[in-house]
Amino acid sequence: METRKINTSFKVYADASALTDADIDLVVRARELSATAYAPYSGFRVCAVARMQDDKLVMGTNQENASYPIGICAERVLLAAVSSISPGLPIETMAITYQSDAVDSSEPIAPCGMCRQALVEFESRFKQSMRLLLTGSSGEVFEFESPADLLPMAFKHYHLGK
Ligand SMILES: [Zn+2]
Repeated sequence: METRKINTSFKVYADASALTDADIDLVVRARELSATAYAPYSGFRVCAVARMQDDKLVMGTNQENASYPIGICAERVLLAAVSSISPGLPIETMAITYQSDAVDSSEPIAPCGMCRQALVEFESRFKQSMRLLLTGSSGEVFEFESPADLLPMAFKHYHLGK
């Protein structure tokens, strides 16, 4: 028997002002647009904004439903939009943030497990990493070089022989 460790690292910025201008723009837009999420049941409004390789921005917000399981997270709304609008174009950086009626929103958010899997799959379609900027309505920003850092040992296409 042996014990193996999984290590992950990410950068922490005290606030968005420490980022590049392009990344600040992404975070500011995500924070503003989170108000437009359709989340009447949870009051937890999430927004993801992606900067594509051609510098275009695409956004997604969570979309809830009275039939709760039908709801879709902001990250997967965004990935579906990107794949439809710009098929074949990688995402360079994605900012993800939220605002909540129930809790303090200043702590950085992280994608749920299902979205992590979707983000890993999307990234694996291209030969470049997809940076993630995770933040709340204010305060710290976490920078991950790849969604794979959030989902070690992800299920991959090659597990299916593809
Ligand atoms: Zn999710």
